Parts: sequence; C-alpha cells; structure tokens
Amino acid sequence: MYRTHNCGELRKKDIGKKVILSGWIQNIRNFGSLFFVDIRDYFGITQIIFSKSLLTISLEKEFLIRINGEVIERLSKNYNLNTGEIEIKVSKIDILNYSLPLPFSIIDKTDGSEESRMTHRYLDIRRNLIKNNLIMRHKIFLMIRNFLSMKGFIEVETPVLINHTSEGARSFVVPSRNHVGKFYALSQSPQLFKQLLMIGGIDKYFQIVKCFRDEDARSDRQIEFTQLDCEMSFVNENDVLIFFEYFIKHIFNNIKNIKLEPFPKISYFDAIKMYGTDSPDIRFGMKFCELNNLVHKKEINYLIKQELIVGIKIKKCKCFYTYDNINSILDNIKKLNNGNFFWIKYLPDKTFIYSNKSFINKEICSIFIEYFQSNPDDLLFISYGKKKEARNLLHKIRLEIANCLHLINKKIFKPLWIKDIPLFEWEEKNNRYKSMHHPFTSPKEEDLQYLEKNPENVRSKSYDLVINGTEIGSGSIRIYKKKIQNIIFKHLGLSKKEIESNFSFFTKALTYGAPPHGGIAFGLDRLINLIEGDEDIKNFIAFPKNNDGKDIMINAPSSLEIDKLKELYLR
Ligand code: ASP
Repeated sequence: MYRTHNCGELRKKDIGKKVILSGWIQNIRNFGSLFFVDIRDYFGITQIIFSKSLLTISLEKEFLIRINGEVIERLSKNYNLNTGEIEIKVSKIDILNYSLPLPFSIIDKTDGSEESRMTHRYLDIRRNLIKNNLIMRHKIFLMIRNFLSMKGFIEVETPVLINHTSEGARSFVVPSRNHVGKFYALSQSPQLFKQLLMIGGIDKYFQIVKCFRDEDARSDRQIEFTQLDCEMSFVNENDVLIFFEYFIKHIFNNIKNIKLEPFPKISYFDAIKMYGTDSPDIRFGMKFCELNNLVHKKEINYLIKQELIVGIKIKKCKCFYTYDNINSILDNIKKLNNGNFFWIKYLPDKTFIYSNKSFINKEICSIFIEYFQSNPDDLLFISYGKKKEARNLLHKIRLEIANCLHLINKKIFKPLWIKDIPLFEWEEKNNRYKSMHHPFTSPKEEDLQYLEKNPENVRSKSYDLVINGTEIGSGSIRIYKKKIQNIIFKHLGLSKKEIESNFSFFTKALTYGAPPHGGIAFGLDRLINLIEGDEDIKNFIAFPKNNDGKDIMINAPSSLEIDKLKELYLR
C-alpha cells in the first residue's frame, strides 16, 4: 500500500492515527539527530519528523518516499498550511525513487529560466502555479460542458486531418504515405464541419477542440490552441449574442464570483473611430476626438493637408511636467512607428509645453486646449496622417499612457460586442478582396444590394467578443444559400475550378435544404488566461510550445530520417 492518506489531508482530529503517506521531499531541516522534512503530493504538504537512525542513506529534495508513522500534535503550529497543526512521527521510511539535483526549485515564485522550465515541464507542473492553473482549466472545461449540455448542445468531434484550402491562415500540412504526392492539412477550425452538422439536422453543436495555425507564435498565441467551437440552427445575430453573453456571464460568475454588466454593442466603424482598434479596452476613457473640422476652420497650416487629425485628452496628468518625461512614455511606441503625432501639456500656471515646434506654436496650442476644454495639468496627444496609420498610432499611445499612468484596473472585466464588421477588406498586395471574418459569413440583408458591384460597402453578420482589449471570441451568421456563397468565392478571387475542387462538397450540401445557422468560437487558452489575470498563455497549457513555436522538451519540430522521407516520397 502506498498511502492511507494524502499529504494535504491530515488534521488535528486525526491525532493518534497510524498512517502511511507517499510524497516528494520538499524541504529537509536537519537538527543533528532529528530531521524535520516536508513531503508534498498533488494535495498538499505534511511535515514529518524522524531520528537519524531511520536513515540508511542521506535524503535529497524531490526523492520520493513512503513513510509509516503516527499523527501527533505539532508544537510550533503553521497556520498557513492546512496540515500545519499536526506532523507525523515516522517509524519507517522507504525510498520509492531517487531524484537528480533539480534544475530549479519547486517553489511558487520560480527561480528557473523559461527555457529550463520548458525543458523540464513535468517539474514545472509540480509547482503550485502550473498545477492550480491546470486544475482551473479542467474546472472551466467541465463547467462549459455541463452548461452547454444543459442548454441542448451536443459535443461532436470533427476531423483534424482535412484538406488544405488557400483561405484563412496558413495551414500545417501532413504528407500522405498511402497517396503519393498528396497532403492533408491540420484543421484550422471545424468551421465547415460544424456547418455541415447543422445541414445534417444537429440543432446545437459544441466542441472543445484543438486547432492548428501555422502563424508566428507569441506570448498570447500558440500554433496549436484550444477553441470552444459552437454552432446553432435557426438563429439570427441577436439570438447568438444573447445566448453567449449569458454563457460568458455564467462562467465569470461561477469561477470568479463576478457579475458582469450587460455587454455594450459597438459597430466596427464606431470602435475604429472612437478607439482606433476593433478590440478596444474600455476599462478606461480617452475616446478619440476627430479634429479635421477644427483644423480647417482655424486653417492650421501643415495639418490642413492631412487626411485625419485625431486626438485624446488625458485628464489631470499630474506626473508629467517636462519635455523629457513626456517623451519617455513614448519611447516604446516610437520604436514601433516613427509616426506623426504631437503633444501639448497644459501647465498649472496656464502656459504650455509642447512637442514638434517646427509646426506647433503657442497659438495652435491654445486652439486645441480650448477645443478639448482642457484644465491645467491635462495632456493632449494628437496624431495625423492617413486615417489608418493615424488611428493605429493613437491607439498605441492610448494604451501606453493608460499603462504608464496605471489607469487600468486589472481586477475589472469589461466585455463588449463588436458588430457590423465589413464583409471584405481590400488586400493591396494580392489585388483582391479578403474576408474580414471568413468566406462563410453572411452579408447583412440590407447591404445585399451592394454585393455584386460594391462589395466593400457590404457589412456582415459577424461579431467579435472583446474583453479588456483582447479578442476572446468571434463568429457569424452563415450563408446558407449556394448562390450567395458562390458570389463571395468569386469576390475572393477563386476561380470556378478552385471552387469546384475545394468547396463543391460544401456548396452542394447547401442545396439540400440547409437551415439558417450561425455560431461562434472562443479562444479558450486566452479566455482562461484573461480570467486568471496572467500575462502568459503558456501558464495554462500543460505542454505548450515556446514563443518560437517549438516544444523544447520533446525537441519538436525535428528532422526526419532519409528512410522516412523516402517512404513519404519527399526525397
Ligand atoms: N471558425 C471561426 C474561427 O475560428 C469562428 C466562427 O465563425 O464560428 O474564427
């Protein structure tokens, strides 16, 4: 028998019991003839004491031992530990396994480098942080499965080995041994399969599913990630938003005991105009103010020729008074984009300091200060240039300032829906349209009139869920008529032949009475990361890839031997 109890279980009421425990050695305190040792397992830590005479060899950290002993009351109690009122007086020790010296300590605040932790991930998982994150992940998955099952969804698995198509992100491809010169692609998402399930009459589907995209990995993006993928029949946009708002509220309420406010809905265009991004962080203010009319009215030279002039006001910005410290906030941004912007600081004595003296002077400062109804201590940032660049730059400035001035309350969650997203965006480099969401997204009925001739004016029935500036989910109502689907493919530059070879199975399915349907997918790694307020998505994945897309523990990706390459006809 390895144990009668686990290492987190024994309490004062157990004093006097004879027990057997197994665990890894966390700490050893040697008082000459007496040893105090903490042993640890999944459940917790228990202190054991024994005399030197019980040892045949010296013990080291992370040796795995089994002990027999008696529960006794601890003299100096440790109330930080669940088992801190007792200890075990050991009568027998067996060493179940030895351990090499550790590359890093198994403690909450890690002393291991990321590389070392990733190479020895199994040791990292012994740390409370990673272990508790995995437990949390499990709880959230369970809650999702229970909630959706109760609401009539069924979980259906869809294939991972599918076909490569040129739409969407880059796919990973897998050579087929049996079919010489042919390749599978790893599924980027179950999009078409979930739609086929709706055509197959499944009313509500979900799946917690691995998706694969051959993109550059980052601290908030993995090449192999987990989605909660959902689809429902006979729904319109509002049905989906109402249901999934309820779902997200349920998760936050049950996991964090947080009651979320109703989610605002903002059109894509308004989000871009007000925040310069389609994933705005609305935990703080600083909405954009467009200044073109003012600039024209006051004939402010130099700026007058710009396509867009747009600014934000940072109220009561007391800590920044000199040219240098205002500029220092922007160091990071300047590296990203040596962009067109200037700032004006209104000082308590009602004078200004300002940047870009080549075209800004005191008179211009007063115009802007007055227009923004600024008070002493306020700081203005104004960017200008082409619309897209000017907005993008001001968005970065807004975030940087909010971080610098600690304007973001990290404990609150502010979700919102972004709606009315354009169906297409023009891709200059390929000289053709690209779907903003994906090619199966339905246009809005009222914009169908533009579909043939002015597709850039068509808005789609797609929606994104954004929480605290991060896109957590996105979805759409789908096209369910073959004719419209084909027009979309045509706009995306697909030839008849390409449509036929890549998508005929699907457009054909649409002709057998496909129901109206729509859905959404959430990035679960990101959602859990956000709920737990961690910076690094890898802390919630048992065996993540590093920021280079590698698994350095198993050494993947790796080269193949010549024989294997030959077998796959790759040599
Ligand atoms: N398949 C989409 C994605 O992965 C989500 C959806 O439209 O439901 O982004």
